[in-house]
Amino acid sequence: MKCVVCGRKEAKINGLCEECFLNSRSFIKPPRNVEVVKCPRCDGVRIGNTWHYDRTVDEAILESLTKNSRILDDRLDVNIKYSIIENMNMLDVEYILSLNGEQKVERHGVPYIFKKQLCPRCSRFSGDYFESIIQIRSDREMNRDEILDLEYFIIKNVENEQKRNPDLYVLKKESRDGGMDYYLSSNSSGRVIARRVAERYGASVKESPHLAGVKEGKDFYRITFSVRLPDYREGDFISWRNGVFRVLAIKRGQIKVINLRTGEIESITQKDLKDQGYRIFARSEDMVKAVKLYEEKDYMHFMETRYYKVYAVKKPSFNVRKEFYIVIDGDDIYIVPEA
Ligand SMILES: [Zn+2]
Ligand SMILES: [Zn+2]
Repeated sequence: MKCVVCGRKEAKINGLCEECFLNSRSFIKPPRNVEVVKCPRCDGVRIGNTWHYDRTVDEAILESLTKNSRILDDRLDVNIKYSIIENMNMLDVEYILSLNGEQKVERHGVPYIFKKQLCPRCSRFSGDYFESIIQIRSDREMNRDEILDLEYFIIKNVENEQKRNPDLYVLKKESRDGGMDYYLSSNSSGRVIARRVAERYGASVKESPHLAGVKEGKDFYRITFSVRLPDYREGDFISWRNGVFRVLAIKRGQIKVINLRTGEIESITQKDLKDQGYRIFARSEDMVKAVKLYEEKDYMHFMETRYYKVYAVKKPSFNVRKEFYIVIDGDDIYIVPEA
């Protein structure tokens, strides 16, 4: 059957060909207006009720048009182009409609409202606003490298959380009692980050809320998350019960260790370690490189490279390369097995 309008092409939809169907009426209900709010301090933009910190105004307009324009026939593919008509506060919007290869451009003028307003991040920031403190303390004083490592870990996690919670920022940080305090704009993000730090370092978290006033008609609590790091870290050497171990990883209350006598990997709970007493006898940086000289029956002769002393030890049950590391605990020398 031919199209009832043009009589030339095949009828495809409601007795019409694609071209005549596209021309039969309009298919777009444009939004009543497009409003974009921009923060003059940080260039964040608000679309609807949400602030975005990774979009330009142009992207915000397009996003708003895409979200709020109604397409009255879902068989159509629609592409949107627009330009701003200066001084008229209007957008000249072209909706490019496609249907089985046929195209039609539908044009609409949409009122455009552009405002400047401080975003919540910036307005709170200027008011010293914060909701939570992550207080990080260690049973052993943290050295510079550890503090830098912790800083980096926290910054990375704040950036990650900002994707979910764009209002998050770090108001300030202070070094205190050998640890660090981070003041954050959010309780929920504070909790997430405190838990991540705890998991990473095998630490415990304690929450203490304090009533801090009234906000939007409700009691407003500030929460301090105290994160207490144990004195051992990944890479440390510990003696515990009758064994000597190197800590490989700490996760969810479990410590993965390698037994220095057998080279076997074992698991100890943090609780058992604490309850039954342990001693840290060396850190990663205390390891000394050694070179194997020769083997003789059950013994292996090697030279360490710090004072160039030569030793003979019983060959361990695990494989030892030509170059390896040793660690010393008083009179005892251990070959560090490879994990
Ligand atoms: Zn036709
Ligand atoms: Zn801002």
